[in-house]
Amino acid sequence: MLKKMGAVGLSLAIVFMLGCGKDEAATSSSAVEVQQKFTWRLVTTWPKNFPGLGSAPENFAKAVTEMSAGRLTVKVYGANELVPAMEVFDTVARGAAEMGHGAAYYWKGKSPASQFFTAVPFGLNAQEMNGWLHYGGGLDLWRDLYSDFNLIPFAGGSTGVQMAGWFNKEINSVADLKGLKMRIPGLAGEVLQRLGGIPVTLPGGELFTALQTGSIDATEWVGPYNDLTFGLHKAAKYYYYPGWHEPGAMLEFIVNKDAWNSLPKDLQAIVSYATRAMNQDMLDEYTARNNAALKELVETHGVQVKQLPEEVLVALKQASDEVIAEVIAKDDNAKTVYESFKAFRDDVMPYTAISEKAFIDARE
Ligand code: CA
Repeated sequence: MLKKMGAVGLSLAIVFMLGCGKDEAATSSSAVEVQQKFTWRLVTTWPKNFPGLGSAPENFAKAVTEMSAGRLTVKVYGANELVPAMEVFDTVARGAAEMGHGAAYYWKGKSPASQFFTAVPFGLNAQEMNGWLHYGGGLDLWRDLYSDFNLIPFAGGSTGVQMAGWFNKEINSVADLKGLKMRIPGLAGEVLQRLGGIPVTLPGGELFTALQTGSIDATEWVGPYNDLTFGLHKAAKYYYYPGWHEPGAMLEFIVNKDAWNSLPKDLQAIVSYATRAMNQDMLDEYTARNNAALKELVETHGVQVKQLPEEVLVALKQASDEVIAEVIAKDDNAKTVYESFKAFRDDVMPYTAISEKAFIDARE
């Protein structure tokens, strides 16, 4: 009896010791990770705290700090606080900041293929763009492309369909685009050029002054919510729709690959899911905030909201097809990315027509 009890006691003791050893090992390894704290710098192409575009990195930083219980702290820098807007990509690539928030089409000089991850004229709306990136292979292609730059991209929010922009004169025909100096980045800028316009790329913070002083004749920016903030209605009279050029402009978070690899798996998961949450959150913010801003622009500031004539849209569409054909003929990466994009667009259009479009038509 005693002997038996002794044996049981011994095996219980062994189990207990083994259990302790295992627990101790697990506890001490996670304790090291829990104690290790990371502070990241996040540089953006937007003015600090700019509504919508600038809310996403701020909300991301807050979410990450909360979810990691302070193990990963992210400090957000607006344009020109640490580096100018157009240096965000290079800064994160070389690791002088761990993260960035901006738009891939600003980096077309690095790779023409990057443009397809922000906006393609007459391309995908926000919902479709998210579908392509997350369930249609788009994000994998984006990551392949940025891998050469030591960067990992994440979808970073969508504005939804934008406005065609602010013009200091009426656009009644294609001829009115000739000689028009307009801030319009990415593929759309090349489309404007094909129709005789002069595209320029400027960061958002410079648009009001450029338009007011007449150094540009027109600018696109985002939509009522953001355009009102910049006061663009004080610099131009005519506000045109639809945003043919940016039907679902997608922003980006970029992470330096070495910084990413230095994070434990759970913090990587927090960063990854936080970007995904902010990606949707931005669209929610625009969907809620554009409406009152449009009302204020029209009712308080007397802005003239106008639709681009059919003839102009048809010409823009044709020029877009030509520009895209040229871009992909010159660059293999652009060709690969666009083939995937186009296949998704061809696939998604018939169902969008009998779902979202048919419903919106019926509702009206
Ligand atoms: Ca825009």
